[in-house]
Amino acid sequence: MTRLALIAHDEKKPDLIDFAREHEELLSNCELIATGTTGKRLGEETDLTIERMESGPLGGDLMIGAEVAKGALDGIVFLRDPLRAQPHEPDITALLRICDVHDTPMATNLTSARYLIEGIASDG
Ligand code: PGA
Repeated sequence: MTRLALIAHDEKKPDLIDFAREHEELLSNCELIATGTTGKRLGEETDLTIERMESGPLGGDLMIGAEVAKGALDGIVFLRDPLRAQPHEPDITALLRICDVHDTPMATNLTSARYLIEGIASDG
């Protein structure tokens, strides 16, 4: 089964919830993991089942990076806030890097997120 990670910085969480609702049917056919707060909100505000990692600032991005390193993730939707510095920026950079090491797709805005999940869905 396709395994996807969903992450959003605070200002982008509403966008990710809307995105998940719009693509709920497709996403419900995937195994989903998320950083702590993102996963909590998705669990409360959609009908999707999400496995929650730690919150991003507490290491959740690194936990998702470890899944990439294990070859256990097919893609990541990470809606980042480009306007605010994040306290855990080094962890985010590490996550981007490990995705590039393993050629794992990561979408960082809504349009690329749509392309990513539609592409993964059409790959079967
Ligand atoms: P959060 O983490 O879902 O726990 O807010 C996201 C992040 O900041 O990486």
